[in-house]
Amino acid sequence: MALKISEILTWTEYFKKTLYNQIKPVFTESVSNVKPSYNDELNNKVSLLKTDITKLEIDAIVNAANKTLLGGSGVDGAIHKAAGPQLKEECKTLKGCETAEAKITKGYNLPAKHVIHTVGPIGENSFLLKLAYENCLKVCRENNLRTIAFPCISTGVYGYPQEKACQIALQTVRNFLESNHTSVERIIFVVFLKEDETFYEKYLQFFFPIE
Ligand code: ADP
Repeated sequence: MALKISEILTWTEYFKKTLYNQIKPVFTESVSNVKPSYNDELNNKVSLLKTDITKLEIDAIVNAANKTLLGGSGVDGAIHKAAGPQLKEECKTLKGCETAEAKITKGYNLPAKHVIHTVGPIGENSFLLKLAYENCLKVCRENNLRTIAFPCISTGVYGYPQEKACQIALQTVRNFLESNHTSVERIIFVVFLKEDETFYEKYLQFFFPIE
């Protein structure tokens, strides 16, 4: 069953529905930056969703691919399986992808219209992980796409520590929205694992405070 944007809670709605009475303290020492200010508009432009990213009926889903772009394990395998063989045919024409680059294709049999393929760093490299998120957002904006979902890039087979990767993802998206919020309707953080859900619930309260 595909999920439309109208069915996905914004971060503000999610917080009020599920976290309001169990606010988890966020220790600022664990994140390097000064806590961003409350911004209701930006809080309504992000979502946290625990789901299979291939189920989303939105403008673009991001694929945490490998440099060949010809399919792999994890989320990459799930996206290619759901999109069908035409995705691989289009990917062949792209001649691979360097770490942190982002390349767009159609979504084929996916409910999502497009796939933005990026390659995360292997292991912990905050510069390259940030750049991967930034390049995906750039491709999204250049193609006038308004709804985009990210998986937890690099945190599976590529071994990036999940908690640190979560902080980079949220910081990068917050920075992007500060200057580009009119160009997007919603940026969805898709988590597949319970522990990632817990990290995002915690750090969303820091990077997108509700107060
Ligand atoms: P990488 O090679 O970049 O580490 P992986 O696919 O191994 O990519 O893992 C990235 C993240 O994607 C992990 O959090 C993993 O649990 C998650 N994941 C795996 N399958 C799916 C899926 N179908 N939808 C969303 N996330 C998924």
